[in-house]
Amino acid sequence: MLKPGATIGILGGGQLARMLALAGARIGLKSHVYSPVADDPAFDVCSAHTKADFLDEAALAAFAESVDVVTYEFENVPARTAEVLEAHRPVRPNPKILALTQDRLIEKQFVQSLGVATAPFAEALDAESLARAVAQLGRPSILKTRRFGYDGKGQTKIVEGVDLADALKDLGNAPCILEGFVPFAKEVSVVAARGLDGEFRAYDVCENVHEHHILATTTAPAAISDSTAQTAIDIARRIAEGAGYVGVIAAEMFVVRDGRGERLVVNEIAPRVHNSGHWTLDGAVTSQFEQHMRAIAGMPLGSARRHGKQVVMRNLIGADVDKWAEILAQDGACLHLYGKKAARPGRKMGHVTRVTP
Ligand code: AMP
Repeated sequence: MLKPGATIGILGGGQLARMLALAGARIGLKSHVYSPVADDPAFDVCSAHTKADFLDEAALAAFAESVDVVTYEFENVPARTAEVLEAHRPVRPNPKILALTQDRLIEKQFVQSLGVATAPFAEALDAESLARAVAQLGRPSILKTRRFGYDGKGQTKIVEGVDLADALKDLGNAPCILEGFVPFAKEVSVVAARGLDGEFRAYDVCENVHEHHILATTTAPAAISDSTAQTAIDIARRIAEGAGYVGVIAAEMFVVRDGRGERLVVNEIAPRVHNSGHWTLDGAVTSQFEQHMRAIAGMPLGSARRHGKQVVMRNLIGADVDKWAEILAQDGACLHLYGKKAARPGRKMGHVTRVTP
């Protein structure tokens, strides 16, 4: 177990790293942030930082030597980066999870191997295999690149009339999978933590609304039945245990309602703190960020209990951030700004949380 005063190395310097560093500081952990981007949000709040490329092996080695454990705020950490770091210090979560979550095909196969439902899917490597996949899964369906997709990037809907070769071309002719369209009633996620000793703690299942493919609001708890909520948490536990995971993990799921009631379909796993867990900063006893720092430090996990009746988190995207003064003046609004200079459209600039007592 690391002790207060230890240093956590964080790969990536975005808002997730910033909030990890702030939460770590609260329990006496220092953070050393490693990012190739000079004015990244986390650099403002950490005790040390390295600005270097993720493939700069000398810089990675020096960084690892200066910390006690290494973690990351994004799943697209190159395999070689993790390998170099692991030669010096423990990397948590174990980088094996990166191979699983960087590739939608491998991710879905892993989830299904646990006996958990995903959307039906088929490989689509070229126009021929895509035609076979469409024949199998029908239209509408969703074509997604196997790698490097986020916030709706790297995916396109195959509706009637869409030319399959054009659809592949739109995605840069990258290796893809086709997913059957899931007629979901709502989207939910489970944010949970697994400690170094295997202890598992989940936050309330929360409900997510996306606008233009970007998370707009998260509400906790989700308006789903108690048994569906319990099943969602069990699924997250199976995923975390199946992967031998340490740290905070998020599992995004679709809730499908039909004549037989509610069922869950896993869409995506994030091996990190997650936007749908930001509400825990103001709305839970231990935030997802502190929980992650505790878990990777081998410290006891904190309570994941929610404060209040309901917690709503709204992202401030692009120009939404201009309302900061108005939000600061509102009773009960908890404002978080990420310190980004340019408020480009679609860019996550901050969030605001409101807890209903
Ligand atoms: P993803 O990048 O996989 O998280 O997908 C982004 C969004 O697209 C999801 O949050 C859903 O709203 C929608 N979506 C993705 N996959 C499917 C699917 N198989 N069926 C229906 N909607 C989907």
